[in-house]
Amino acid sequence: MFVKQGIAVSPGVAIGPAILIGKNELQIPHRYLTGDVVDFEISRLHGALQHVCEEIEEQEKLATEQLGAQYAAIFGAHLMLARDRKLIQEIEELIRKRRFAPEQAVQMVLRKRASQLRSLTNAYISERSLDLEDLEKRLMRHLLGEPHQELSNLKSEAIILAHNLTPSETAALDKKFIKAFATEVGGPTSHTAILAGALEIPAVVGLGHFLSELGGGGETVIIDGNEGLIYVDPDEATIGRYRAIEQEAKSRASLLISRQSVDDICTTADGARIIVLGNIEFPEEAEHCQERGAEGVGLYRTEFLYLGHQKERTEDEHFQAYKHVARTFGDSPVVIRTLDLGADKIPGTMKEYFSDFANPELGLRSIRVSLANKKLFKTQLRAVMRAAVEGNIWLMFPLVSSLLELRQAKMMVQDVCEDLEEENIYFRRKIPIGMMVEVPSAAILADEFAREVDFFSIGTNDLIQYTLAADRSDPAVARYYNAADPAILRLIEMVVKAGDEHKIPVTVCGQMCSDPKFVPLLMGAGVRRLSVTPPAVLEIRDLIGRVTMTQVREIASRARLMESARDIEAYLRGELRKIYQDADY
Ligand code: PEP
Ligand code: MG
Repeated sequence: MFVKQGIAVSPGVAIGPAILIGKNELQIPHRYLTGDVVDFEISRLHGALQHVCEEIEEQEKLATEQLGAQYAAIFGAHLMLARDRKLIQEIEELIRKRRFAPEQAVQMVLRKRASQLRSLTNAYISERSLDLEDLEKRLMRHLLGEPHQELSNLKSEAIILAHNLTPSETAALDKKFIKAFATEVGGPTSHTAILAGALEIPAVVGLGHFLSELGGGGETVIIDGNEGLIYVDPDEATIGRYRAIEQEAKSRASLLISRQSVDDICTTADGARIIVLGNIEFPEEAEHCQERGAEGVGLYRTEFLYLGHQKERTEDEHFQAYKHVARTFGDSPVVIRTLDLGADKIPGTMKEYFSDFANPELGLRSIRVSLANKKLFKTQLRAVMRAAVEGNIWLMFPLVSSLLELRQAKMMVQDVCEDLEEENIYFRRKIPIGMMVEVPSAAILADEFAREVDFFSIGTNDLIQYTLAADRSDPAVARYYNAADPAILRLIEMVVKAGDEHKIPVTVCGQMCSDPKFVPLLMGAGVRRLSVTPPAVLEIRDLIGRVTMTQVREIASRARLMESARDIEAYLRGELRKIYQDADY
């Protein structure tokens, strides 16, 4: 047995046989065509293209069924490439005129194009070049006739161990059969990690090299998406322990469902009202939140509208997405966060806005991108203001770091309202406007900001990385990135205090509040609104019902006196154990 620690990105545990997807390049025969075989080789190329298109269409269908149409965009882009006449002609020419084998011609043309795209930006791997790499892999598989385990066609349960999974590969996973996945690379907030959460498949990323230590697949593996662990060839005792955890999680899930009515008001054991909302990336997830009793959407990450999308989104595309979520929740709030593009979320169409500095988390990102690209920002704001008549929409700006920035963003909203009025377009002017507190400067100046917004939402994912100088996507500094750090608690308390004094609601929407051990601490620090991932809604509601305000205040007071993240974390784990001690599961 060997055990490896990575980064937990999607909770749950799974046990099953492994399928390996390594990074080893396919072996391409370097051969030129001899004899009268050109027509035959070209028909082989077309056969492979045909298979690839059918495969992509299949995956597109599956992803649409499982997760909704937003995901289909990834595959639409791949299909366009696989049918690109010019691209195919270029490959054909190499086969006809230079007598290259199709494998070599495909590789040359696609790699040349991918490198041209990359050099346009000189920056992060462009989405289009990734699409080309994806197409190359698919075509090679068919041309070389490599026995390929088609993941979306898998008909028995398995666990994927991969060097990396692209967002398109992740979106195409059939969750009936793929029980979990683990990758050598990746960070907690990559698209792939967020998709795993949306699919509700346990996942661990950032494990470092380990695939070369394995055989050819088929080994029994355990993925522990709660603790970020993987076990390969586990012994009987470990399997037994995890079977028990799996069973416990199953009975706990059904108990949670049977115990709670999703219409129940969420309160602590002593009657204090706590509001649990859901975080979503795609409109279709609104229903997942509602089914579990979320009282609204506390964070809608609208930049995911751009996932795999090759063109800028139109006002109507924004509008339709927001309308769907607003209507799903009726009078309950839906917090629409304006685009948080940049860092690891850069659409292929927008490279020119991003510089190629090595530190994208500190570069042009989020509200800064929207303010630098007024057309993009106004398109989105118009759609939000129009969709606001369909429900209870709140508008939120991400990554605000100065008052001036906030004022500029608010002025853009004013401009948009005036435009809509002049154009006689139906919209709602008076909606709550708030901001994420996720940069230390915003937390430090929370008192000033609170005078100018209607609500705060604390983004602990970014607040932690900027406060502790540890990139949230970099496994190399994962041990420095810790929500239990006393500095984080101090900042959260400053924001809550400012919110209370100015009587504006304060929500926490970072991953921290989907983790049960932090919930009593946050409540004890005065947080009354938690926005969590859809799978965590039931569990967090249940946990809230088990504690009293006196108890959570005591927990926060004790934690406040501790000096290190390690002590705080150990203490919170202990307290959580006590809370569940008398539980009937
Ligand atoms: C956060 O930073 O905590 C947050 C919720 O935003 P995101 O994870 O989308 O950056
Ligand atoms: Mg953030």
